[in-house]
Amino acid sequence: EAPESLNFIEQIIEEDLANGFPQEKLRFRFPPEPNGYLHIGHAASICLNFGLGEKYNAPVNLRFDDTNPSKEEHEYVEAIKRDVAWMGFKWANECYASDYFQQLYDWAVQLIKDGKAYVDGQSSEAMAAQKGTPTTPGTNSPHRNQSVEENLDLFTRMKAGEFAPGTYVLRAKIDMASTNMHMRDPILYRIIDKAHHRSGTAWCIYPMYDWAHGESDYIEQVSHSLCTLEFKAHRELYDWYLDQIVDPAKLRPKQREFARRNLSYTVMSKRKLLELVQNKHVSGWDDPRMPTISGLRRRGYTPSAIRKFSDLAGIAKRDNVTDVSLLEFCIREDLNKIATRVMAVLDPVKLVITNYSEGKVEMLEAENNPEDPNSGTHEVPFSRELYIEREDFQEEASKKFFRLSLGSEVRLKSAYIIKAESVIKDSNGNIVEIHCTADLDSKSGTGTEASMRKVKGTLHWVSIAHAIQAEVREYDRLFLDESPDGHEDKNFLDFLNPDSLRVIPNAFCEPYLGKAGLQDKYQFQRLGYFTLDTDSKDGKLIFNKTVGLKDSWAK
Ligand code: ATP
Ligand code: MG
Ligand code: MG
Repeated sequence: EAPESLNFIEQIIEEDLANGFPQEKLRFRFPPEPNGYLHIGHAASICLNFGLGEKYNAPVNLRFDDTNPSKEEHEYVEAIKRDVAWMGFKWANECYASDYFQQLYDWAVQLIKDGKAYVDGQSSEAMAAQKGTPTTPGTNSPHRNQSVEENLDLFTRMKAGEFAPGTYVLRAKIDMASTNMHMRDPILYRIIDKAHHRSGTAWCIYPMYDWAHGESDYIEQVSHSLCTLEFKAHRELYDWYLDQIVDPAKLRPKQREFARRNLSYTVMSKRKLLELVQNKHVSGWDDPRMPTISGLRRRGYTPSAIRKFSDLAGIAKRDNVTDVSLLEFCIREDLNKIATRVMAVLDPVKLVITNYSEGKVEMLEAENNPEDPNSGTHEVPFSRELYIEREDFQEEASKKFFRLSLGSEVRLKSAYIIKAESVIKDSNGNIVEIHCTADLDSKSGTGTEASMRKVKGTLHWVSIAHAIQAEVREYDRLFLDESPDGHEDKNFLDFLNPDSLRVIPNAFCEPYLGKAGLQDKYQFQRLGYFTLDTDSKDGKLIFNKTVGLKDSWAK
């Protein structure tokens, strides 16, 4: 592979290998905190880490960074596993930071014994005031020079549950004058009076992210710990913590940072996504408008489209926003290759073919997918009375209208060329029936001269007697602003799109759709790509529109 086709993380790894790092020691991890569902930003990290695993034939752990019981739940663990597996990746080991609590505690005790950690009983306000600013040094805590014995005693009692949350913390003794604020005696442990979804009530002190993360990487012998840019300033602390425990005979993990994936017209932080769920702005984490992996799956996205998107968006060194149209491009391309072509009418008007015998039914052959020669065909029933889309007919055609109008001809897809002769209207002047005649020699695929005749438009349709009804859900962007959480004076919720969901309760589908299964992909011809929604029940089909046929946002 040419070096320029490597992303910068791969370049770092290649350099390490060139400098003698043994390839068989490469090991990666994807480390979600189980405090929400995975989103398309996580997909970047998943694709990066598991992609490296595939590329270098290296194990990749799925590590739950479950060190804060106040926000974490078992439901999220299950959802995360489901989503990573659905993306098509296999983890080597399922790991939990909570399984390392005892080891982390023992190491913390060692730090105290080495005079490198102390228990601080000040209020969080007092500690914050002592922290200083990036340009002025902090001041030492009055507890900083407590004896080892006193620190051990207090830490043991913290663990034993003798103290209330907020009364004591364990801090590393590093440097209150460091230019890196993270090095100014960071907190290692705090008291949290909550049961943990795995360790239950065994612990009431919990390690901070920085303390748990690097040491977990070390325990698992992860070679390259890849995280997002906001942790760059934490790297010095990550290294300091490792310095305290690393056995030189073992592998020493290294942290490297890449830019978060941001997507236009949505929010990505789990806290904000949770707010959307809790305030019922969406139906749940897997609402098809959510940027979550489960939402995208329910919407009809495929793992390959998400992986392709991650590929094309790339791994960047600097923060940036990827346009959501790239994601839509990826799913459209994929569905074009795999979706079965069918017909459905969302806004029906009745069309009668007056020269077609009443009661006659023909089974026409429809190509499943012109992009895939092996996809075969299916049968579509044709009869005298059909539905077409209301907007596909105008009594008098304007210049650019190539659909059906009085006196003009169009082809009915897979069927006949028809000509509109007259209309029937109700008392309000609305068209209720369009009467047409068909050129009965023009049936598609028969090879007759009339069947080859070119007309300007082709319409989709369904036979009324055979149609099955379905609910169709169409989605627009959830937010009206390109970066809803990028405004200082406004809350992201101010930008919610009030029309992001449009429900069509009675669409008419060709009967072939009666056998649709969850995750089957369809192109409703001329309308877009659709998939069955998980709310569907026997006798009640519900389809989600995944994406339109064209980028409706492009000019
Ligand atoms: P959020 O702010 O959305 O809650 P997080 O970083 O707290 O995200 P974690 O569960 O800690 O979420 O993330 C697991 C892994 O996925 C981490 O390595 C994190 O850096 C990475 N990750 C999270 N969000 C993104 C993103 N938008 N782009 C790329 N990687 C991400
Ligand atoms: Mg988080
Ligand atoms: Mg995190």
